[in-house]
Amino acid sequence: MIVFIVNCGSSSLKFQLFDMHEQKALATGLADRIGIEPSAFRFEPEGKDTIKLELPIPDHASAFSLAVQYLTDPTHGVISSINEIDAVGHRVVHGGNKFVESALIDESVIDAIKSFIPLGPLHNPANLTGIQEATKLMPNTPQVACFDTAFHQSMPEYAYVYPIPYELYEEYKIRKYGFHGTSHRFITAKAIEMLGNPAHSKIVTCHLGNGSSCAAVLDGKSMDTTMGLTPLEGLAMGTRSGSIDPAIVKFLHDNANMSIDEIDSMLNKKSGALGISGFSNDFRDIESAANEGNERARLALDIFFYRVRLSIGSYAAALGGLDAIVFTAGIGENSSTGREAILKGLEFLGVSIDAQKNLIRGEAIDISMPDASCRVLVIPTNEELMIAQDTEEIVLAAKK
Ligand code: AMP
Repeated sequence: MIVFIVNCGSSSLKFQLFDMHEQKALATGLADRIGIEPSAFRFEPEGKDTIKLELPIPDHASAFSLAVQYLTDPTHGVISSINEIDAVGHRVVHGGNKFVESALIDESVIDAIKSFIPLGPLHNPANLTGIQEATKLMPNTPQVACFDTAFHQSMPEYAYVYPIPYELYEEYKIRKYGFHGTSHRFITAKAIEMLGNPAHSKIVTCHLGNGSSCAAVLDGKSMDTTMGLTPLEGLAMGTRSGSIDPAIVKFLHDNANMSIDEIDSMLNKKSGALGISGFSNDFRDIESAANEGNERARLALDIFFYRVRLSIGSYAAALGGLDAIVFTAGIGENSSTGREAILKGLEFLGVSIDAQKNLIRGEAIDISMPDASCRVLVIPTNEELMIAQDTEEIVLAAKK
């Protein structure tokens, strides 16, 4: 089965074409800065030269056509016609409390995604555009929605209900939803396999990238996660503050003459590692500046690592023990010094890592010492593959 994976952001469209028989990507691509001149387009077909273009991409419809145009291009493409695509899988950010797993897209699923726009105002409309464009170009091809929130729907009520008046939860659906679910699910499945498929497992998964979140996972099910109603809650991130005293919002409004919109934008776009370091949200830049003695860069790292360590500790308490800690995403997979700093002080949980193994990159690996009771795993995430697998499974099941 050939599966087309589409991830529409507010101003970007990422795509991958998978050959599920071979379990490999035939091509990946990105249309970036959609609607903002100059837009950028990158296309990486397997075994052929990468194409990078700067051109006007006024909207998602043009981005979608461009992706299909290059996928089917006689010289650069990897398929000869759009008819070779058997199914389309979409990343959808907010599935509210309705979707506990991926779903075959029909009118009712589209309506539900629309109904969750207030919960995901930036992402769900873009995700719907992707579905709309695929429907226009491939009206008879089945489509599947994979929700970032779905994996965390197994959280118990006491973990997801905020201690604010219960009516607000009932009326506005204000609760913790959690995100990065596809990634947490992917690394959980791989981790359980690497642990030897035990019947029971207590795992903390750490997705540490520009956006970051941890999850407490019991027997393969998410029991808690650091992101909340929105991805703003939880860990300190590249540009997001993560959890702060909610009273800071009123304080800034009253004392710094900032509007709610300005505060919201500051907390989402100018905080976290960027806000503390004052110069970058990229951990590579921050790590090298910290190594050269930049104190604000050092502080940004210390805050980030400290908060990840706190989450691991609190989730060990929530789970009543810990069999494994799993690291993934840009920082989690690549920063050996970051992993070391996060894990420092967690020896009491049975953590002990092998310094040499901690330096290995690019593969799923257990970096713990042989006798460590809590394993530390580094697992490259692959959300697109997970979406492709769900899409194939759901489409095949629907045909039966
Ligand atoms: P992601 O959102 O998963 O793409 O992760 C992006 C983040 O990972 C950025 O802050 C990068 O600086 C960071 N990152 C990527 N490679 C490394 C590395 N080798 N060391 C530290 N951070 C890295």
